[in-house]
Amino acid sequence: MAVEAIKEQLKRKVEVRVTEGKKIPHLAVIIVGNDGASETYVGNKVKTSAEIGFGSTLIRLESDIAEVRLLHEISLLNSNDEIDGILVQLPLPKHISEPRVIETINPAKDVDGFHPVNAGKLVQGLDSFVPATPYGIMLMLEHFGIETSGKHAVVIGRSNIVGRPMSILLSSPRAYGNCTVTICHSKTKDLASFTRQADIVVAALGQPGFLKADMVQKGAVVIDVGITRVPDATKKRGFSIRGDVDFESVAPLCDWISPVPGGVGLMTIGALMTNTLKACELRD
Ligand code: NDP
Repeated sequence: MAVEAIKEQLKRKVEVRVTEGKKIPHLAVIIVGNDGASETYVGNKVKTSAEIGFGSTLIRLESDIAEVRLLHEISLLNSNDEIDGILVQLPLPKHISEPRVIETINPAKDVDGFHPVNAGKLVQGLDSFVPATPYGIMLMLEHFGIETSGKHAVVIGRSNIVGRPMSILLSSPRAYGNCTVTICHSKTKDLASFTRQADIVVAALGQPGFLKADMVQKGAVVIDVGITRVPDATKKRGFSIRGDVDFESVAPLCDWISPVPGGVGLMTIGALMTNTLKACELRD
């Protein structure tokens, strides 16, 4: 599996750093409140850090915390030399401004790649921290050797954390880029007419089972980003995780398809850890 290869590689790099007497990468994660999905994501990030030999710090804050206190916590991490990467788990409670929080993180420690400095660098093709989900998808394309150059990619969703950076990466003049990209969103008319022409579809809209067989051409590559909890009485936890693709009907048509769970979600963590190592190396 692609993520296992990435984790193994990171683990070896940490071991080399240790033998060279260099600092171990350290990721700080802030979670505000106790949203169930956020708890799961944060738990996985802390667990993966430990598996590959990174240090990690988890900071839990009450859901009614004042914005100024959250910003203060981030400032402390910015100036803490032990910390290489800072991640604030989104979404945040309504009374807190996400853009203000993101802009407070030192861009050199912004391993989520959401800071406008990193987003701007990405657009200009400069070295930057690339948001973990689209970066994970690029690593997945590379791992499986999926050719993209000259292909038509349709990205459904235009958020700052998935759809927009994904469209930039796929259209960039780089390995596993060079696509002709169409971005679709909630105002797109006749969305299926675009996806039916696509060699590659990235579904990142948050609507379970949205992409159906009649919206995909034979031989397409389909990447499912969606993660939605849907009620499921057969499960002990009361829900199951569904992607944005109707996997059963779409998979038989595809040359390649990423499943949910077990696809992009895992790669996102691998990409985050890759960014954290990079942040640490840049501070050597
Ligand atoms: P957002 O809600 O921020 O963005 C959703 C995008 O999809 C918007 O651009 C919206 O359009 C578009 N959209 C919504 N409904 C439709 C529709 N019916 N037709 C066409 N476009 C539509 O979500 P995110 O980008 O943050 O996340 C998308 C999905 O990916 C979610 O399920 C999320 O849980 C998952 N996710 C998974 C990650 C992973 O690690 N695998 C990481 C991050 C997210 P408009 O702009 O017009 O509103």
